[in-house]
Formats: sequence, structure tokens, C-alpha cells
Amino acid sequence: MISQNVQNIVEKIDFCCKKHDRKTSDVKLIAVSKYFKVEDVKEAIKASLTNFGENKAQELDNKFGALGNIVKWHFIGHLQVNKAKYVVKAADIIHSVDSIKLAEEINKRASSAGKIQQILLEIKTSDEETKFGLNDSDSIFKLAEYCSASTNLKLLGLMTIAPFTDNESVIRKSFSGLRELKDKLNGRGFGLTELSMGMSNDFEIAIQEGSTMLRIGTAIFGERIYN
Ligand SMILES: *Cc1c(COP(=O)(O)O)cnc(C)c1O
Repeated sequence: MISQNVQNIVEKIDFCCKKHDRKTSDVKLIAVSKYFKVEDVKEAIKASLTNFGENKAQELDNKFGALGNIVKWHFIGHLQVNKAKYVVKAADIIHSVDSIKLAEEINKRASSAGKIQQILLEIKTSDEETKFGLNDSDSIFKLAEYCSASTNLKLLGLMTIAPFTDNESVIRKSFSGLRELKDKLNGRGFGLTELSMGMSNDFEIAIQEGSTMLRIGTAIFGERIYN
């Protein structure tokens, strides 16, 4: 089932890219494997996927322990400062940097690991209470400056989660807001290239609004069972 799902989603992404005048090679598919087993990840690897996303430090650590660097790991969840070391060990890109304190700790851990850690800043582009991320432009700018000045961090871009709604214009506003913020920061010389936005239900809008990284779970692995 996973291999069929992978084939379907890859075709859909390809179709949407053509439709919206984007290059498929500019839109990376990250398979969000949280709550799924190592066996499921292996099946997705067989079906050609090479990038996987996890949202808990412990679960990333487990899967990294089982599979190592045969794939690229993305950390996409809220990260507590005291868990940063596990994530720095495993992650190719950390998508959820949202404070100077966290950036400082990641930089420190990356330095002792002899690694340049690639990161994105998590931005809150809607007023949903439940979402993490930064929303005022002053703290976003300060954090971007801090990260750019940190020797062992490489700031690549921005990440957001759109509101959970069927209202397409609300979702679009969240994604276009992230793109505009990237342009604004680039106007100040940050040279950001990545926009991590779009999930199973909203990836077409995200592609249209300039996403370079889709984080797709359900459409690949099926419904998650939370317990
Ligand atoms: C779970 C999760 C996803 C994947 O969501 P789906 O709707 O299953 O595709 C994407 N991004 C983040 C941050 C997540 O936590």
C-alpha cells in the first residue's frame, strides 16, 4: 500500500508542478513517518523516497538508530532545548527553530559534533492558538540575524503550518505570507532559498505559492493512530 501511495503522490506533485509552472526538481518531498514503524519507512525507501520527517526527538533518535544516514532526516516538530543534542546528531535539516535560546543550543551541539547544522525558522502565519513559531517581525529578524552570525548554523529558509481548515483562501494567505516574509528577509541580505510548507491536504496550494519542501504523512503512510 505504501509503495502505491508513494507512486500516487509523486505523480500528483509532478502534475501540480507542471500546472503551476514549477520545476518538480525544486520541490522536495519529505515523507512524514511520525507514529509509523521502521518497517514502514523501509517500504517507503524501497519505493524511492529519500527524505523523512519526524516531530519528536525520541522517535527520531530511534529511527536514526535503526536506519542511520541511508536517508536524510528532517526534524519538523517543536524542539525543547534539552533535546537538541539528539536531533543535531540525526537531522539534516531542523525545520522548527523558534527562539534564540534554541538556536544557541543547536549551534553549541553542532559545534561539538563538528557539523554545520542546516535550519529553518518556524513562523506562525495564522492566529491559531495551538501553533508554535514566531509571528512578530522584530523577533523574526533578530533570530535570523543571530542564526546567520552563528558559525555552526546555516539558515536556509522558513517553515510554517497552515491553519487546519477547508477554507482555501485562509490557507493560501498563510503560504503567501511565508513567501513574502522570505522575500522581505532576502531584501535585507539573508539569501534564503527554502520554504517548508504544504502537507497532505494543502500541498497543491503550497506548490502554487512557492513551496520547496512538502511535508507529507497521511497521503503516504495512511491515518496515524495516536495513543
Ligand atoms: C504531521 C505533520 C505533517 C504531515 O501531515 P499530514 O497531514 O499527515 O500530511 C507535516 N508537518 C508537520 C509539522 C507535522 O507535524
